[in-house]
Formats: sequence, C-alpha cells, structure tokens
Amino acid sequence: MTNVLAAVRTAPSTTEIREYPMPEIGPDEALMKMEVAGICGTDVKLYKTPPTKAPVIMGHENIGYIAKAGREFTRRKGFKEGDLVFVEHYVMCGKCEWCHKGEYRHCEATDWRTNPDGIRYGYTSAERAPHLWGGFSQYVFLPWNAVVHRVPAGVSPELAGLVTPMANGVEWSLFDGGVGYDSTVLIQGPGQQGLSQTVICKQAGASLIIVTGTAKDRARLEVAKSLGADYVIDVNAEDPLARINEITGGKGVDVVLDCTAGAGTIPITLGIEALKRKGGTMVVQGEMAEFPNWPLGKMTVKFITIKSARGHSYRACELALAQLASKRFDLDQITTHRFGLGEVDLAIRSVGNQEGGVKDVIHASLMPWL
Ligand SMILES: [Zn+2]
Ligand SMILES: [Zn+2]
Repeated sequence: MTNVLAAVRTAPSTTEIREYPMPEIGPDEALMKMEVAGICGTDVKLYKTPPTKAPVIMGHENIGYIAKAGREFTRRKGFKEGDLVFVEHYVMCGKCEWCHKGEYRHCEATDWRTNPDGIRYGYTSAERAPHLWGGFSQYVFLPWNAVVHRVPAGVSPELAGLVTPMANGVEWSLFDGGVGYDSTVLIQGPGQQGLSQTVICKQAGASLIIVTGTAKDRARLEVAKSLGADYVIDVNAEDPLARINEITGGKGVDVVLDCTAGAGTIPITLGIEALKRKGGTMVVQGEMAEFPNWPLGKMTVKFITIKSARGHSYRACELALAQLASKRFDLDQITTHRFGLGEVDLAIRSVGNQEGGVKDVIHASLMPWL
C-alpha cells in the first residue's frame, strides 16, 4: 500500500476522504497504524467552529499499533513495531520546564493558540508534510518528540480509547480538585468526561458523589449511578441547589467539577452556590469568553479556589491506563458506539447530541479500518 486514507475537515462541519502518500520513516521517527480515535466534546466544537481554515485531519485521542519504527526511535523511546500505544495529542519540544515536568500540555511547541507552527494531533494542518497529524486516518506519523504511552496488556484498543477522558479525570479531580478519601464532590454533566470523573473520584475514596444532567441524559445518569454516583439530579426536573443542600444537610460539597457543554454560565453559578461554606475548589472548563456579573464577592467570601481544566499530564495518563487495566469498573457502559472512517461527520454529530446523530452515544470510537 502506498497511499493512506484520511477523513479531512475541509470547512466547518464538512469532511472529505482524502489520500496521502505513505510517509518515509527516518531513523528517529515512527508510523502508527490507527485502531481507535476517541471523539470528545472538543471535537464537536472544533468541527463546528474550526480554529483554522486549513484542511485538518481531526482525531486527538489516538490508540494504535506501531507499524514502523526507526532504529533511533526504538532505542530512545523503547517502542518497537507491534506495540499497542496511546499517543498524547501534545507534540513537545523536550527542552522547556513544562516538558521536563511531563506537563506537555503547557509546552509552547504544541500550543496552537500562541504558536502558529505548533504541532498537535487533531489540530495541525494536513498540508504540512508528512500530513498525517490526526487520528481520523489509517496511519499517524510519529516524530521523535511524540509523547507515547504503552497500553497495558489485557486492555483492548477500544477500552484504551477511554484513556483521555480518564486522564482528565485524574488531572482535574485528583490533581487540580484535590479529591481524595472522604471528599464530597459535585460533578456537573454525565457525558464521557463526567462519567470518567465519577470513576476516578470513586476510586480515590470520595464519600459523596453527586452527578447532574438534563432530561435528555436519563440513560447517562443511570450509568453514573452504576459507576458509583451516590445521587443523580435531573436539573430539568428539580432545583439542583435545593437538592444538593438537602443531600449534604446544608453543608455543600468540597469540590465541584464542571463537565458540561453548552450550558453557559449556569454550571459555574450553581458550583459557587453548591460549594461548602469556606474553602471549596471548583475546576472549570471555561467555554464562554466572558462571564457577565461574575459573583466575585461570593467567591472570595466563601474562600473558593477556581482552577482551569487544561488536559492532562504524563502521570495522569499513566494512572488512567492503570485504572483501565484494573477492570475495576464496568466501562463497557461508556464505550457505547463505533464508527468507520466514512462516518466521521455522523460520529461527531452523535457525540454532540445534534440533529441527524445517533442517540444515546456516550463514548464514540472512530475506527478507521472498520
Ligand atoms: Zn478530547
Ligand atoms: Zn516543551
């Protein structure tokens, strides 16, 4: 085979299948044969409102087998042909303070917002040689500075496809939110991200986990319960703050994790109200550019710490892979749907719960060889 098929975003909400030449692999490079590209809420946003006009092979949560590896790649990184791996979407410089800490997400070399030449899987232009910079493709190119993790034995590619939401679960709830033994937690949004946070908080020993959703999240809220949520709240059916006060005896919770999409300022306002009297922590994603009437007074009086949810570190990925390998939770309930390379548009619509999409998708695996 000399050509590689890829699904390319060519305009907002538009995908075309294109062919690219199979790249030549240098001594310090490798090629990954794609198995699963996880699709998340970020894909929904990037598809509808692309940050660039360039054609892009999306897919930033990538699992596959090393198909070819240069000698130096194997010597330096320890991966050889046939290994099943997870590749972080951050492509690092390897020199800065963040890279030395395993916090590749903060490296300037992969920050598309501030560095037009930055490389990030699922974001970088397909016009840039050797073109294969996204997981919605049969193969993905791995330069020397790709961040590669070994998928533990016994973990299928599809299960491994959950590593990104699970790593975010570790990063946001444990590292940022400080969730641990006896913590009380409010998780807003029961999508793949909120459910992954539920698993991690449960594993960490949280004594109270409340998960909120809307009327259309009925099935997801049931999954949340089976994964360890103590209470679920349909915010369309009851007043969430009144219910949280009732559950906590008016005390509120230690930590709030915002895993909503398209809910505007509501989850943030609810979070500030639902946090305990003093010293709670809220981890926010920040979908809006601005927040009118920001309740700064309430936030400071309650001594609230607000942190930004910004992807995951190397360590969070390793802990997430170990969590998947433990098989301690029935995560088949999350990996609900598979889509082929020709179904990228349908898959993204489905994850976004949009018109024309498949219903009740929690996690979608894009499988380019399906
Ligand atoms: Zn993602
Ligand atoms: Zn760096």
